[in-house]
Formats: sequence, C-alpha cells, structure tokens
Amino acid sequence: MVVDCAALAPPFAAAAMQDKLTLMIPGPTPVPESVLLAMSRHPIGHRSPDFQAIVKRTTAQLQWLHQTSNDVLVITGSGTAAMEAGIINVLSKGDRVLCGDNGKFGERWVKVAQAYGLDVQVIKAEWGQPLDPEDFRAALAADTAKAIKAVILTHSETSTGVINDLETIASHVRAHGTALSIADCVTSLGACSVPMDAWGLDVIGSGSQKGYMMPPGLAFVAMSDRAWQAYGHSNLPKFYLDLGKYRKSAQADSNPFTPAINLYFALEAALEMMQAEGLEAIFARHARHRAATQAGMEAMGLPLYAAAGHGSPAITAVAPEGVDAEVLRKAVKQRFDILLAGGQDHLKGHVFRIGHLGFVCDRDVLTAVAAIEATLQGLGLHKGTVGAGVAAAAAALAG
Ligand SMILES: *Cc1c(COP(=O)(O)O)cnc(C)c1O
Repeated sequence: MVVDCAALAPPFAAAAMQDKLTLMIPGPTPVPESVLLAMSRHPIGHRSPDFQAIVKRTTAQLQWLHQTSNDVLVITGSGTAAMEAGIINVLSKGDRVLCGDNGKFGERWVKVAQAYGLDVQVIKAEWGQPLDPEDFRAALAADTAKAIKAVILTHSETSTGVINDLETIASHVRAHGTALSIADCVTSLGACSVPMDAWGLDVIGSGSQKGYMMPPGLAFVAMSDRAWQAYGHSNLPKFYLDLGKYRKSAQADSNPFTPAINLYFALEAALEMMQAEGLEAIFARHARHRAATQAGMEAMGLPLYAAAGHGSPAITAVAPEGVDAEVLRKAVKQRFDILLAGGQDHLKGHVFRIGHLGFVCDRDVLTAVAAIEATLQGLGLHKGTVGAGVAAAAAALAG
C-alpha cells in the first residue's frame, strides 16, 4: 500500500516547531546536555598535564564499562575504525578466520577481513535469526591443525535488531585454544553486560555515538593479553591504526596523534553519568525499554523482525504487514519529529527500526510508541483498539 504523505492534509503537514528532533535511530543517539556543555570549551593542549589527567580518568572509566583490566584504547574515528584496527593489529596476511554474518554489520566484517587478504570462512544465519553457536563450535572443533586464527562477529546486529550469543561463542573460541575472539560490540556495550574478562574476549570494538551518549568521533578498542601476543607477530599494514603506538602513549596517559580533545571532555562527562547510574541499572533500563517497545509493537499488530527471544536491548526492528515501513517512518518524522531508522538493503520498505540505546528514558519509549500509534491511526492503518500499543508499553515499563 502506498500513501503519499505530502498529499495528506494537516495534521500531517511538516512540523512547524524546530529543534524538537528526537533521535530514535541506532546511532547517532541523543546526547545529554551535561555532555554537550562539557564539549563547548576551548580545546586544551594534548600534551598538557590537564589532558593527561583526563586520559587517566577516562581510561579507568572505560575499563569499568568493559568490565576488564585490559587496555582500552581510544582512536579518532567511527566504530568501523575500531573494527578495522581490531583486525589489522592481531592478524597476518592469509590467516584463516571465521566470520559470523547475519546482517549488514556481519557483512561489513567479511568485507574488512577480505580487504586485508584474510582467508575468510563465513558462518551465516538468516537475517532476523541469531548466529548458531553450534556452527562455531563445530568449525572450531574440526580445526585440529589450529589454522583458525580468529573468530570475528557482531554482538548486537543493528541491521536486524538481533543479539548474538557472544558469551557461548567466545567459550568455544577459548576451547579451541589458538583462535582469538574479535567482537563488534558497537551497539551492545553500554546496553547489556559485555564482561570482557569473564567471557575471555580478546578484542572489542565500539564507537562513541552509540551507548556512550556522545556525538560520533571516538572509537574504542579493548585488547587482551592474548591479543597483544598476536600483535607481536601480526604483519598486516598499519600506521594510524597501529595500536602499539596507542598502547605506548596510553602508558604515559597520552595519545600518539592529536586526539579529538573536545570529545574527550564529552567522554569524561558521559562516563561519569554512566558511573552514577551504575552498570546494572543501565542494563536494566535497556532491557525494560526493549520489553516496552516490543510489547507496544505487538499490541498494535506490528510483528517484530528479530526471532522471538533474540531481540537486541539497543534496537527493535519492526516488520509491519500491509504497511510500507518507509511511509510510516517518514510520517512519524514529519508529524512528530521523531527519527526512526529504515530497513537496509532488501529490508528497505519492509522494516523500520526503533533505537532505544544510550540516553533514552521511559518517556522517550512511551512517546515513540504513542507517535507510531497515532501515525497509524492518522493513516487509517491502525488495526485493533487505538491506545492498545501505549497501554502495553506502559504496562511493560511498570512491570
Ligand atoms: C554503528 C555500528 C558500527 C559502526 O559504524 P560507524 O558508522 O563506523 O560508526 C559498527 N557495528 C555496528 C553493529 C553498528 O551498529
């Protein structure tokens, strides 16, 4: 069904009020005022004691967030820089790797690995389904020659709203003994527990515009001792993303190049906020928002795209039937100035995605569900009882 939003009479006319944009996409995510204010200072010298103090503090905060005593290094770039750095610092030309692929970001891992001449064996799952840990266990168990050097996967697959079972897959990697685990935790870190040390993860990549409640621009790579051992004989080309340089500088509370200084101000403020809330409370909030979003959608007869029980705490993908997802998404933006994400590749028009990651409160979730409900009603596409979506979401938030 095709509905032309522009042809619709008010109240679907473009929102007259400016500056009320609410981001409910899986990055960039909303930024708290305290973080914005922290950034709006003059930069300071990056070789100054003041800056060193910030590096020292934020490093400890980052270790807290990653639940690790390993190095967590900060580079200037988006999340993909962290992913690329993760690969090129621990692997060598022709190395065999297993790559999990159940969505757009899994595909990206395969492309990065292939770009560096790695021998990539792809382990796939259908979009909307989680990766099967058993596939990884079997492939690793069959590798008696220990040729597999790394297992690379995405924890929270943002394109489909699926969370993969990183803990179990990482345990199979540890049982193999040789392979390293390299994980894209860009939309899981800060949304659910990613205990690097307890799960025995070797490389974790993330980016500032997701769970960190910051603007884009900083990328983070955590490296285990085993990852550093592999670094010692990795021969893939690297210069700006050579993590050895970052490690050496970090030991002197510094950064090898001119860092994005104002983003460090933001990082310190954001991590302070996270510490004040506490990890368990942060994870509980994301779980609650996932439950409320899912309940709201289902009560409106809007099917979830991710397989039941495997929805990401950061993002909910919705696959409406008989409704063009793009039309609905654009109407929500036009009428309520709430930005939802569309579907990628073959999901365009079939799926819309609600980001509930980072600086998101119960009110935001309730508002998004209500806006979707009111938009469906306005388009004459609401099935069932109007208000059922909001009621279900409110009940989930209360419970
Ligand atoms: C956002 C995102 C990335 C990083 O993308 P950038 O645009 O480079 O920041 C990587 N993986 C996942 C799962 C993401 O959601």
